Amino acid sequence: MPLIDPVLLKSRLGLLAGRFDVEALDVCDSTSSALSRRAEKGAPAGSVIVADSQTAGRGRRGRDWLSSPAASLTFSLLWRFDGPPARLSGLSLAIGVALSAGLERLGARGVCLKWPNDVLLCVGNDYAKLAGVLVELSSDRRGAQAVIGIGLNLLPPDEALPQPAAGLSQACQLTPDRHDVLAAILLELHRVLETFAVDGFSGVKMEWQQRHAWQDIPVQILGDGTEPLVGWCRGADTDGALLLETSAGIERIFSGDVSLRRQ
Ligand code: ATP
Repeated sequence: MPLIDPVLLKSRLGLLAGRFDVEALDVCDSTSSALSRRAEKGAPAGSVIVADSQTAGRGRRGRDWLSSPAASLTFSLLWRFDGPPARLSGLSLAIGVALSAGLERLGARGVCLKWPNDVLLCVGNDYAKLAGVLVELSSDRRGAQAVIGIGLNLLPPDEALPQPAAGLSQACQLTPDRHDVLAAILLELHRVLETFAVDGFSGVKMEWQQRHAWQDIPVQILGDGTEPLVGWCRGADTDGALLLETSAGIERIFSGDVSLRRQ
């Protein structure tokens, strides 16, 4: 039996239980791939797939996302929006706001955000990755569709990773039950996505800025095969672009194929 029981989860979603349709799996390739296949067959907005194990968990740019049943919560949510996908710039930043607000509801402290899509745990001057967000957009004549994939470490991963990683257990006095964690995140996702549908990223930009890990510090932008771009990190613009102050002035960086690092 999967670790998430949809009946227990529904009881924690209260009045919004009817907005989500949750399917729990022991194993799948990736929750986002499985949900995209359901979406092609007409699954409704609010469909959620949560899996104990992924055989091909994905991050951005073809990278792997590692998870294990006991130490992770991995799930994907399907959402639909009116209008073209161009209206959805900044969506992965908005998801980070929902994720961090959900964890804070459970008493987590020190959760902060890194542009464009990482949720970090900040301890002193050190930052470790707590969760990753992968948003995949498509559109048809009805509007735009987002498959929102989230991988959260409940416990710090055992595997050696190129960058430091953390677990929710390090942010909370008592590690919360995984049903409480998923319910808190889904409730915040509902709030943030409703706001985003009306106002775009500007509707939650303030909340993102309050949690921004690297405001006003020197950073570099790494792209494939290009020289690093260095400057001061000035936060996010109303459309989710990163504002980088360089010697040439303020540059707007779009998330595409770049990574942000501290200098
Ligand atoms: P960056 O923007 O910093 O370059 P990214 O946003 O491209 O990172 P993601 O796609 O969010 O990265 O996540 C994939 C990366 O996260 C992997 O390359 C790996 O280094 C790291 N990673 C994989 N699994 C985990 C995990 N469980 N916890 C923390 N980090 C992980």
